[in-house]
Order: sequence, then C-alpha cells, then structure tokens
Amino acid sequence: MAYDPENIFAKILRGEIPCDNVYEDDTALAFKDINPQAPTHVLVIPKGTYESMDDFSKNGTEAEITGFFRAVGKVARDLGAVEAGYRFLANNGADAHQEVPHFHVHIFAGRDLGGMIKRV
Ligand code: AMP
Repeated sequence: MAYDPENIFAKILRGEIPCDNVYEDDTALAFKDINPQAPTHVLVIPKGTYESMDDFSKNGTEAEITGFFRAVGKVARDLGAVEAGYRFLANNGADAHQEVPHFHVHIFAGRDLGGMIKRV
C-alpha cells in the first residue's frame, strides 16, 4: 500500500496542523496524544514517510531506525518515566486497530498500566 501523504501525522510533520510538541530531532518528532489513555501519553513518529512498523523495519535506513529508537528512549527518560516504568507499543494494521497510517510508537506512563493486553 502506498503511503498516504494526507494522513494526519504527515500534516503535523509539514506544520499544516499543530501538535503539542515534546521533542524533535533529525529523525523523529514526539508530541502528546490528543486523546490520552494515561497521565502521560506521547506519540513518537519518524520523520520519514513510513506507514507502519512493518514498512519502517523493512525500508527504513539504519540511521533512521537507530535515530528513531534512540529518540523513543530519550523521550521516555525526559518525561521522567523510567524509574516508575512505562509502556511503549506500536499498532500495526487492522487487527491492532492502527488508525493513523504513519508509523508511530505510543509511550504510556504515570500510573499502573495493568496487564499487557485485554483478554476477550
Ligand atoms: P493508532 O491506533 O495506534 O493508530 O493511534 C493513533 C493515535 O493518534 C490515537 O491515540 C489518537 O488519539 C492519536 N491522534 C490522532 N490525531 C491526533 C492529533 N492530531 N494529535 C495528537 N494525537 C492524535
């Protein structure tokens, strides 16, 4: 599937719509989730146009992948989330309910986050 340049995170990266920016470097941008699921809920996205974890892990350059995951760790540290703990996750595709087709990692922190996954 081709990357959709009109997705909402592409618009944030181009500065067409605002975000609550918490971190930015050459490879990544981090901003607060608009609908937080925890006291701290931040999204980290690569600046490259990758639609999913699958796309990024296949097609991202070594520099993009290294820079991105260093940024995720730095954001979590800068948020003060390391000592008490945090969760990061990425939804990939339909079964995971990925809503925005630009690869992103969620960072959750600030409370006991419970078990890893809801059983149904
Ligand atoms: P996912 O289901 O993993 O694709 O998650 C997409 C996330 O993006 C959701 O948690 C939304 O609340 C969040 N989101 C959607 N639009 C915005 C926006 N304009 N600014 C910040 N977060 C957003």
